Amino acid sequence: SKDAGGGAHHCYEPQLHADAEERRTLEIWLRTALEKGELHLAYQPVVMANDTRVVGFEALLRWTHPEKGVIPPYKFIPVAEEARLITPIGEWVLRTACMEAANWPADVRIAVNVSPEQLNDPNFVTSVVSALAHSGLSPSRLELEVTESVFLREGTRAIAVLDQILGLGIKLALDDFGTGYSSLGYLRKTQFSTIKVDRSFVQGAAKKSAESLAIIRAVVAMADSLGMTTTAEGAETEDEFQLIRELGCTKVQGYLFGRPMPAEDARELIATASRR
Ligand code: C2E
Ligand code: CA
Ligand code: CA
Ligand code: CA
Repeated sequence: SKDAGGGAHHCYEPQLHADAEERRTLEIWLRTALEKGELHLAYQPVVMANDTRVVGFEALLRWTHPEKGVIPPYKFIPVAEEARLITPIGEWVLRTACMEAANWPADVRIAVNVSPEQLNDPNFVTSVVSALAHSGLSPSRLELEVTESVFLREGTRAIAVLDQILGLGIKLALDDFGTGYSSLGYLRKTQFSTIKVDRSFVQGAAKKSAESLAIIRAVVAMADSLGMTTTAEGAETEDEFQLIRELGCTKVQGYLFGRPMPAEDARELIATASRR
């Protein structure tokens, strides 16, 4: 149609259509990505804020499609979650990350991201136990990262599953803290070791945002009094790092200390750091 409304219609509908199309295509490709070996893990170092010693790595999923090249997590993880592919993919991530971490010195931990969808899988706890058994990794060296959103839907079930995980001696980290819409009540119900302060607050604080500064201070104070540590995410510059240190965050993760890297490079980083 040639009227104004029709024109406006034409402006956005093809885009919506393309997005739905793209998601459907990604879903089809993703279904075979695991078997075809297109997925791999990158490992990003986590360092102590006081002396920058490497104390762990976060495993981050990477997908390289043979024709399309690298497809970033923000594009394919939501698709994997919706299509319920995140459960088999997440199991692979856990097994692979635990196998890799079993090669590292005993004081270096591995953090693995877990989607809310995975906690709804009745086999989740069993698959974690089997990843540990198969790799020989001590449970205390594994940290699972969950976001506040796990408490939104079916909150009580999530708490029960996380309790079982804690019972195995595995650590829990609360990821992307402050970016969700959940209440703080769950902090009394689940024992987190670490709160991860989202990059948006770190960058805000470095740009002198009074709100970001106040929020980081409050999170650090709360974590301290609840016996938890804090990890500041996304430190890219020396200034951001110094600020994080002054604010009292326990650990730091960010490009300043290392980008997500292949397993071989992570091993080399550990070896060089321990020779110092
Ligand atoms: P996240 O768990 O918050 O992971 C941290 C993200 O911040 C990673 O993005 C990392 O590369 C990025 N990052 C770290 N330091 C810096 C920095 O200094 N500057 C900037 N600009 N970015 C930094 P990535 O790898 O693209 O992952 C994005 C998200 O995808 C993750 O956010 C996580 O929510 C999800 N994800 C990644 N791997 C997995 C996985 O195996 N399972 C699940 N369920 N989700 C995953
Ligand atoms: Ca994470
Ligand atoms: Ca995060
Ligand atoms: Ca995030």
